[in-house]
Amino acid sequence: MNTASPITALKGIGEKTAALFHRVGVDTVGELLSYYPRTYDVYERPVSIGALEADKIQAVTGVIRRIPDGRRVGRYHITTVSLEENGLHLQLSWFNMPFLRNSLLPGCIYIFRGRVQKKKGRTTMDQSEIYAPEDYEKLLDTMQPIYGLTGGLSNKTVTKAVRQAFEQLDLDTEYLPERIRNEQQLAEYNFSLRAIHFPVKREDLLLARKRLVFDEFFLFILALRQMKEQTEDTVNECVIHPGASVEQLLSSLPYELTGAQKRVWNEIQADLKGETIMNRLVQGDVGSGKTVIALLALLSAVESGYQGALMAPTEVLARQHAESIRELLSGLSVDVCVELLTGSMTAKEKREAYARIESGEARIILGTHALIQEKVSFARLGLVVTDEQHRFGVRQRETLASKGLHPHVLVMSATPIPRTLAIIIYGDLDISVIDELPANRLPIKNCVVDESYRPKAYRFIEREVAAGRQVYIICPMVEENPEIEIENVVDYTEKLQKELAPGIAIEYLHGKMKAAEKNDIMERFAAGEIQVLVSTTVIEVGVNVPNATVMMVENAERFGLAQLHQLRGRVGRGKHQSYCIFVSGSDSKDTKKRLEILNKSNDGFYIASEDLKLRGPGDLFGIRQSGILEFKIGDIFTDALILQAASEEAAKIEKLDPELKLEEHQGLKEKLLEYRTAGIARMSL
Ligand code: ADP
Ligand code: MG
Repeated sequence: MNTASPITALKGIGEKTAALFHRVGVDTVGELLSYYPRTYDVYERPVSIGALEADKIQAVTGVIRRIPDGRRVGRYHITTVSLEENGLHLQLSWFNMPFLRNSLLPGCIYIFRGRVQKKKGRTTMDQSEIYAPEDYEKLLDTMQPIYGLTGGLSNKTVTKAVRQAFEQLDLDTEYLPERIRNEQQLAEYNFSLRAIHFPVKREDLLLARKRLVFDEFFLFILALRQMKEQTEDTVNECVIHPGASVEQLLSSLPYELTGAQKRVWNEIQADLKGETIMNRLVQGDVGSGKTVIALLALLSAVESGYQGALMAPTEVLARQHAESIRELLSGLSVDVCVELLTGSMTAKEKREAYARIESGEARIILGTHALIQEKVSFARLGLVVTDEQHRFGVRQRETLASKGLHPHVLVMSATPIPRTLAIIIYGDLDISVIDELPANRLPIKNCVVDESYRPKAYRFIEREVAAGRQVYIICPMVEENPEIEIENVVDYTEKLQKELAPGIAIEYLHGKMKAAEKNDIMERFAAGEIQVLVSTTVIEVGVNVPNATVMMVENAERFGLAQLHQLRGRVGRGKHQSYCIFVSGSDSKDTKKRLEILNKSNDGFYIASEDLKLRGPGDLFGIRQSGILEFKIGDIFTDALILQAASEEAAKIEKLDPELKLEEHQGLKEKLLEYRTAGIARMSL
């Protein structure tokens, strides 16, 4: 067995389980080993009820005094039991586990472990794990990996598979030159890989993580540099000049471009007709008006006889772009064929679309990244624009290049990254910044409230709806369990229907819905047929419904600030005053402090840096704040120092041995090749 073996080579993993692993991007044993845990469970010594702290995962020892209560609430069965200690109480509840009434025996000692909640003077723990004391003793002080999962794939299955892989796999050789490991104080590779999955102690985990984060950044930067060398001087074979249609579009816009938009548009124009092809990043906070800039570039490509593609991270977004672009183009005197490619199209529709793209009839092509990259052959692709979040990285460009395509590349990003980091991460791109919001915007009004404020919020929502506005309500995402997540959204919607005045159209949206269903709902929301949209964070990125003025986020404490800022960016996009209501289900001081940052500022850049200050670097157990870019373990914000170090080491290598010819760089050379081809393989599957 080696890292390239399929995971079915592991005992107990058949086709069915392999299909589940495939959904989380794991097909080979090597990919399994770099499927790092999302976080770890630390089994700490049980505490007394008096020492329980809100929002923490803790364990308590307790004796059950009597048979637990069982009752039905709607579709649920709820089991409850109360523990008492020196006059202090802890209420334990479990959903849909009626058998506990028989298995929890009065008079016996148990350890209960779960998330502590404190509300209105009551201390509670829901869905706690239950252990016999001797079983808990075995787990004490260990750190158990928690993996990102998908429906049907359990943490146990992943853990077992990883363990087995380590047993059967030959060790990889260390590929980092001794010099770099010494200088950067990096742990050995195999040690790190093992320790990231099964840390024996916290210090090991920190060392392992540092090493793997370094590797990830380092390989990325090296690949980027190689890429840059290849593309930097790519002669511009698609010379693009904006023509009459672009003029017409500009004069038909219902607004004038902001100064920043104009400046960026000028920079892009210069690139498009330049000697070498464009590789440009446009950074601009949510709502700064990036879409129209993309359209200007796409239309210019069309006018010069090329096709332009716009890739969005989700189908909902791609569809929305198609609609707004068609509308903006409808006023032009020429017809531009805009093709939308979506996963939910029938096979026949797709074939027809591919044919129009291949023949060159389709001029502007919109779709998700996957659709556009994988299956399409273009007649004359001159420009690729990618929108939001997923950086159009080294890998994707390698895929296009491998098809013999060298289009201009424009990357749109709302992620606020400090310039010093942006230069490293986007080292191969020129950077433009839209640092000005359209003048007609009113700043969003924010409030952070606790759950008791809900009725007031609902009355407020009714008033906004009565005034013709629309509302988003975000339910928390339940990462561990997609099923619960769906229940959350559905239940919340049902409750809301009873709470809000009759006649308000409420719908819900979640990630597990079929694309066609999602699209339908988004379209009806955009058309104003739905007034209140209850959703998980699937609407986080890019969605543009300017008539929506209220964003209410339930359990705001569970989200990263950057994510909350993105969510907030869904409102305040039109001329009406907009509001953001962050509902916090936690009394903890830290949470309040964190949310207060959002309350004070609407500036994404400021928010990201304050969040970082509060959390401190290397906060392993915090919420992954950015979750952006294509890094598995590294976080460009919290690991900024490692990113710098990796960048410096990469620069040294480039100076010392740019073609990696030295003996000490052979391992690295191989690893880098592996890194780049793995990228291509994944993209073109
Ligand atoms: P983002 O940068 O977040 O992608 P969008 O491009 O979706 O933002 O633009 C947000 C909203 O602002 C859209 O409704 C768009 O029509 C509008 N808009 C864009 N540019 C301007 C401008 N210069 N003046 C007024 N409104 C604008
Ligand atoms: Mg956008």
